[in-house]
Amino acid sequence: MNKGVLYVLSAPSGCGKGTVLKEIFARNNNIYYSVSATTRSPREGETDGVNYFFVSKEKFEELIASGGMLEHAQFCGNYYGTPKKKVMDELESGRDVILEIETAGAMKVKAAYPQAVLIFMLPPSLATLKKRLTGRGTDSEEVIAKRISEAEREINMSYKYDYVFVNDDLSDAVSSLEMIMKSAKYLVNQNDDLIKGVLQKC
Ligand code: ADP
Ligand code: 5GP
Repeated sequence: MNKGVLYVLSAPSGCGKGTVLKEIFARNNNIYYSVSATTRSPREGETDGVNYFFVSKEKFEELIASGGMLEHAQFCGNYYGTPKKKVMDELESGRDVILEIETAGAMKVKAAYPQAVLIFMLPPSLATLKKRLTGRGTDSEEVIAKRISEAEREINMSYKYDYVFVNDDLSDAVSSLEMIMKSAKYLVNQNDDLIKGVLQKC
C-alpha cells in the first residue's frame, strides 16, 4: 500500500485557506488536517486543539528542543509549527495529510520530506487580499498591515511550489484544489509501492 500524500497549502494570510479547506473537508473527510502549535493568542471563535494548540513561548521552545516538530517558523512575531508524530503516523497508515502553513515552513517540509506536494493559493490581487483581511474582522489594523507587507514576499515564494491556483470565485477555487490534490496522487514519486508491487507479481 502506498503511503498517504502529504499536501502543503500556503497562501497569504486572509487569502481564504480556511474557507477553501472547510469546503474540501465537507466533501472528503478522509484527509487528516494537521493541527499546528502556535504562540499567538486565540482569535474569537478559535478553540484550543481544534484550530491550533495554543502554547506559551517556553512550551513551544521545549517542543522544538525535544525534536517534536516536523517544521517551525516565526510569522509576524509568533512561532508556528507542525507536531511531527501524528503527521508521520497518518502518512504511514496510508491516509493523506494536509498542512496549512506559511512559506518558510513549507520549504523545511520539502527538505525533510521531498515527496510533499506544495500548493500555493493566490489572491486575485493585493487589494482584494486587504479587503478580505479587513472584512474578516479578526485582526487589528496594525496586524493587518504586517500581514499585507508579508504577502508580496510570500507570493514571490510561489515559484518554489509544485502547483498554483487563484481563490477568486470560491467554488472555482475549491474545484481547482480538488483537481490538484487528485492529480498529485498519480505522480510517480507517490506510487513507489504500487510500482514495486506490480513488478513483484508474476
Ligand atoms: P486564511 O485562512 O487564508 O487566513 P480565511 O479563510 O479566514 O483566510 O478568509 C479570509 C476572509 O476572506 C474571510 O472573511 C472569508 O470569508 C473571505 N473569503 C475567503 N475566500 C473568499 C472568496 N473566494 N471570495 C470572497 N471572500 C472570501
Ligand atoms: P494565522 O495567524 O493567520 O492563523 O496564521 C498565520 C500564518 O501561519 C499562515 O500563513 C498560516 O498558514 C501559518 N501557519 C499556521 N500553522 C503553521 C505551522 O504549523 N507552521 C508554519 N510554518 N506556519 C503555520
